[in-house]
Amino acid sequence: MFDSLSDRLTGALKDLRGKGKLSDADIDRTAREIRLALLEADVALPVVRGFIAKVKERAKGAEVSAALNPAQQIVKIVNEELVEILGGETRRVRYAKTPPTVIMLAGLQGAGKTTLAGKLGAWLKKNGHTPLLVACDLQRPGAVSQLQIVGERAGVPVFAPHPGTGVGGEGALGTSSDQGPVDVARDGVAEAGARHHDVVVIDTAGRLGVDSEMMGQAAAIRDAVDPDEILFVLDAMIGQDAVGTAQAFADGVGFTGVVLTKLDGDARGGAALSVRQVTGVPIMFASSGEKLEDFDTFHPDRMASRILG
Ligand code: GDP
Repeated sequence: MFDSLSDRLTGALKDLRGKGKLSDADIDRTAREIRLALLEADVALPVVRGFIAKVKERAKGAEVSAALNPAQQIVKIVNEELVEILGGETRRVRYAKTPPTVIMLAGLQGAGKTTLAGKLGAWLKKNGHTPLLVACDLQRPGAVSQLQIVGERAGVPVFAPHPGTGVGGEGALGTSSDQGPVDVARDGVAEAGARHHDVVVIDTAGRLGVDSEMMGQAAAIRDAVDPDEILFVLDAMIGQDAVGTAQAFADGVGFTGVVLTKLDGDARGGAALSVRQVTGVPIMFASSGEKLEDFDTFHPDRMASRILG
C-alpha cells in the first residue's frame, strides 16, 4: 500500500547521503520533499504540518553524533516522528477484570467488519481466549450467514438471531424470536457469560456512507452492552474520506481503537495513517487480505520501518 510514499521518502533522504554536514538549506529542501511525499500520499494537512515542523526543529537542533552521520541522523528523526504519528507504543486489548470482555466493531458497510470478526476470533483463540462472535448486522443481506461462515472457518462459535426460520446453520447458537440488533447484542453477551466465553466480538451494521440512523443504532448497542473496546474499522482504500469518516464515528459512537483494513490494496493510504493523530485514538490492528491469517497487531515502529523501506 505505501510503495509510492516509501519510494518518495527514501528518495528524499537518499540525496543527503555522503554529505559531511547538513546546512539549514539542505534540511529545508529535504523537509519540502518529505512534505510533498506525505501530501501526495493523502496524509492529512495538519498532520503533515506538525510532522514537518518537528522534523525540521529536531534536525536543525541535532547534536553532532559520533555514531551517525548527518544523513543517518535525519533518517532516524523521520523514523521516530513517523512512529509518533502512528501512535508510538503498540496498544494492546484491554480485557475486562470480570469476563466477558466485550469488543464492539463499528464502521461503514464494506469496511471489513465481518471479515475482521472472524480474524479477531481466530487471533483471540490463538492467544488462549474462548471468544464468541455475535451477529448484530441485521441490515446487510447475508451478513449473518457471512459471520457464521467466517466463524466456522475460525473455529469460533457465532451467536445469531433466527428471524422466523433458518438463518441458523451449523455451529450457530441462536435466539428464538425475531429480534432487533440491540436485543441480539444484549443476549449475546448474556450467552457468553452463561457459556463461559471470556471475550465477545459484536459485529454491527454499517452503511455505505455515514448516516444518523446507523450511528443511532451503533450508539444504542454501545449503551446496551457497555463495551470494553469499540473498534472503528477503517478501509485504508477509501483515501481522503478516511479522516472525515473517522471523525463522524468518533462524534457519533466514539471508539477506543482503530483497525486498518485492506492494507494490501494499492491506494495511497496516507489518510489512514492520519487517523491516529486526527482522532487521538490508537490503531490497534491491521488487516492485509481476505484470509484469516492476514491480520496482526498494529506496531507503529514496524509500520514506520516498512514505509521508510
Ligand atoms: P463489512 O460490511 O464491514 O462487514 O465488510 P466485509 O467484512 O463484508 O468486507 C467487505 C469486503 O472486503 C469483502 O469482500 C472482504 O473479503 C473484503 N476484505 C475485508 N478485509 C480485507 C482486507 O484486509 N483486504 C482485502 N483485500 N479485502 C478485505
